[in-house]
Amino acid sequence: MSEQGNFLHELVGSMSQGAAGNPTVAMIEAAFAHHGLHWRYINMEVTPEDLGAAVRGARAMGFRGFNCSLPHKVTVIQHLDGLGESAAVMGAVNCVVRRGDQLIGENTDGKGFLKSLASVTDPKGKSVVLFGAGGAARAIAVELGLAGAKRISVVNRSEPRGSELVGLLRGKLRIESELTVWRGDYAVQMGTDIIINATSIGLYDADARLGLDVRSLLPGMVVADVIGNPPRTRLIRDAKERGCLAIDGLGMLVNQGVVGIHYWANIEPDTAVMRKALEDSLGL
Ligand code: NDP
Repeated sequence: MSEQGNFLHELVGSMSQGAAGNPTVAMIEAAFAHHGLHWRYINMEVTPEDLGAAVRGARAMGFRGFNCSLPHKVTVIQHLDGLGESAAVMGAVNCVVRRGDQLIGENTDGKGFLKSLASVTDPKGKSVVLFGAGGAARAIAVELGLAGAKRISVVNRSEPRGSELVGLLRGKLRIESELTVWRGDYAVQMGTDIIINATSIGLYDADARLGLDVRSLLPGMVVADVIGNPPRTRLIRDAKERGCLAIDGLGMLVNQGVVGIHYWANIEPDTAVMRKALEDSLGL
């Protein structure tokens, strides 16, 4: 996009199918406005068949980049010029960044989680229990591994997905990891530092219960949930009652936006402004 006085509109956006991410749009555009950037962040409905054409279009129109969500996180890679470190390990991209004339795929989900986690602890040398082995869990596990976590115990309902993640952590990142196939209530071992729900349990249901023996949560443990809507999940409430340090999923969502804006615009956006816009948009 070319500059025309005050009418510069750099473009970034989100390529998805189905779920329109309006709260994300509100959050990102609030940051642009707050920092005086005449930029727009727009949602684009893109079918899998049209993904290649859509990326070529974004390239031709000089987009600074775009987010992509399901079902495009893996298939977008073939249309890009390169990958950042964690996106290459995960094999999934949720944020594309124009660097020079190249489109580079990054993954900001795990980085957003780590930034949110950094408000209470540094994962280096820590023992982690991770519920889930889907896209969010993979992104979080890889970033934790790259940040020096000592051990990641994966707890997942389906064995194949869980084994695949454990294999990736051991093989590509050389960190201690093992799988527990999730049946009944899981009891967290003493010595665990960080417990993370990276499943979809709790999404749109504040009372949904994770198969976890809450008596095994001890004061001082860090408990994090990826669920941002509603943010006060049952796990977060239980963790606080047990004296744990609890981090909700809104922090991850805000911080993956922070990382994306930093990639696109090279600024450190105001997290409080973004969280407020997100909460307002979600009616919280
Ligand atoms: P996936 O579909 O890739 O993975 C879902 C995971 O949840 C799998 O491990 C699945 O287990 C598990 N799961 C789902 N239902 C159950 C159940 N009833 N019992 C046990 N396990 C269950 O989804 P994603 O990883 O992409 O997303 C997971 C959640 O993370 C979503 O709710 C999403 O909203 C949230 N998220 C939040 C972000 C944020 O910024 N806050 C960013 C990205 C995602 P199995 O393998 O056995 O099917």
